[in-house]
Amino acid sequence: MHPNKHPNQQAPNLPFVVHKGLSLFICAITFFYSLWNLVYLKLYLLASIELIIASFSLFFFIQALKKQDKKWQHYTLVGMITILVLLTPLQGDIRAGSLYWSILLPFVYFMMFGSRVGLILSLLLVFPVLYIIYTKTTHEGFLPYRAMINYTFAHFCVWCLCYIYESQHQKDNLRLRNMALEDSLTGVKNRYALDAAFEHIDQHNIKAFMLLIDIDHFKDINDKFGHEIGNHILREMADNLQMYANEEDVYRLGGEEFIIILREWYEQDVYSTAESLRRFIENTRFHQHDLQLQTTISIGISRFLPGQSLSDFLRTADQNLYLAKQQGRNRVIHTLF
Ligand code: GH3
Ligand code: MG
Ligand code: MG
Repeated sequence: MHPNKHPNQQAPNLPFVVHKGLSLFICAITFFYSLWNLVYLKLYLLASIELIIASFSLFFFIQALKKQDKKWQHYTLVGMITILVLLTPLQGDIRAGSLYWSILLPFVYFMMFGSRVGLILSLLLVFPVLYIIYTKTTHEGFLPYRAMINYTFAHFCVWCLCYIYESQHQKDNLRLRNMALEDSLTGVKNRYALDAAFEHIDQHNIKAFMLLIDIDHFKDINDKFGHEIGNHILREMADNLQMYANEEDVYRLGGEEFIIILREWYEQDVYSTAESLRRFIENTRFHQHDLQLQTTISIGISRFLPGQSLSDFLRTADQNLYLAKQQGRNRVIHTLF
């Protein structure tokens, strides 16, 4: 699978989807209101600001359509909406109820920027809104203090609901992401995770080595003792490999093939670690019920060369693994020195 086809990168994330929809909605609604304010209410300053916001929103929407929207555009759009929501009741007549729009803002903040920034922006919003309620409402049609208290509680409820929802959403996302990158049988990372790790190595030009590990005569174990015992060995093998490397750097490629990625290691250490891993597995007894099994592994090593694709990086390790199998198995082959 090509690195760009990584499952995490296929679906656009929530802020981008919200930004796209929101920019179109804001463009349409501010355009409508600007005409209304210009022709009907003669509020020229407000109408001009709305027209500017409508133009920016249209630009942001076109950028989003082309998938070229940037984080600063997200912040600008949300900033413009906030200014609009606060400016309209200040410029116009508060009795028109334009301040009601402010209750929407916490949702927008949380969806666009996550729970932490959402929380801070929502909190900051309370103060200008309370100021507007206090200064703009008259005692005839309104009870300013009670209106302020009501607004604060309503805002607090929205704020709490958004926070709970967004925190849960982030936790679920993380859990699903981990599941998508994990091999379900052994719990080590899977091929998608390898794609992502390689992308990082490639982008940052990291000195990296690959140990391609294949269990010798694994088919015989399956045939002799059954698939379940085979699975048990795969799980224990994964645990053993994780002892030799950072947990994050062990991958199962499929079947009985594993990969360990070592970053920023000296070449001599890479080889001696692979060799000691091979010896360790040779001397390990895999236990299941009253069975005691022994197996060996063959290892092919490759070094990442700048500009290489993951397939190139894998191919060299695979060629070395093939040589290890040809030379009788239970050995480490490298072409490093
Ligand atoms: P070699 O020493 O040349 O690597 O021989 P081998 O028998 O290990 O290699 P081969 O590729 O012929 O067989 C791999 C076996 O791995 C075949 C397949 O039944 C088994 N296998 C693949 N995936 C799984 C799995 O998830 N669980 C179990 N138990 N076996 C698996
Ligand atoms: Mg194999
Ligand atoms: Mg094998």
